[in-house]
Amino acid sequence: MNILQIENLSKIYGKGETAVKALDNVSFSVKKGEFVAIIGPSGSGKSTLLHLLGGVDRPTSGKVFVDDTDIYELNETQLAIFRRRQIGLIYQFYNLIPILTVEENITLPVLLDEHKVDQKKFKEVVEILGLENRLQHLPNQLSGGQQQRVSIGRALISHPALMLADEPTGNLDSKNSGEIMELLKLFNKTFNQTLIVITHDERIALQADRIIAIEDGRVAKDEVLRP
Ligand code: ADP
Ligand code: ADP
Repeated sequence: MNILQIENLSKIYGKGETAVKALDNVSFSVKKGEFVAIIGPSGSGKSTLLHLLGGVDRPTSGKVFVDDTDIYELNETQLAIFRRRQIGLIYQFYNLIPILTVEENITLPVLLDEHKVDQKKFKEVVEILGLENRLQHLPNQLSGGQQQRVSIGRALISHPALMLADEPTGNLDSKNSGEIMELLKLFNKTFNQTLIVITHDERIALQADRIIAIEDGRVAKDEVLRP
């Protein structure tokens, strides 16, 4: 079953002489539970693609279906709700809110939606991430690896359709980087959590089920490593 379908997606930033075509007619689909690595040179359109999959920005043309929802047919309010419930975003520099505790950072997307936090899911995720004893700490009291674990918790708490990570290990040393990838793969395999990761690191790309290479805003290669 396809959890994600992208049809003729294009994105142009700006207008006239300074316009930049960041994505040029990209189409592909992703199966539920798949782990896809997106690689490509700097400036090739990877982040733009990830943001369009996550409903963070709107495309110039083309469609994105997540679990059969045509997400850019949604209005701004519906799109914000879609993002909080169906998209877990993980960034290189964590993007945690500095004045909120670990527990608050993790549960924020649920609370913004005025939902009760599923305590069982919360405990399960926090335990797997090894954050039980850090819940009342602030982000700046944690190491980089721990902060990235918090952002994984925040991304997972709402059972999203897609977990999207933009260079999730780009700011970490090799030990922490390995641990974060093991956690992402654990959630991918154990919970069948669909995972799309942008990476410059070939060792990470080779752990994926499939590698999509982007060049000049187009899909240059789409290779399945593990069917
Ligand atoms: P990558 O993630 O592969 O480095 P990006 O998606 O960030 O590539 O960028 C693709 C192209 O779009 C680049 O030429 C970049 O300069 C341009 N770009 C990205 N974001 C913006 C923006 N907000 N405004 C104008 N140009 C942008
Ligand atoms: P608002 O609707 O007020 O704009 P956002 O949806 O942008 O709120 O969320 C506020 C904060 O929560 C941001 O830091 C955002 O990165 C984070 N956030 C919201 N939803 C998610 C999610 N599904 N995964 C990761 N972070 C999220």
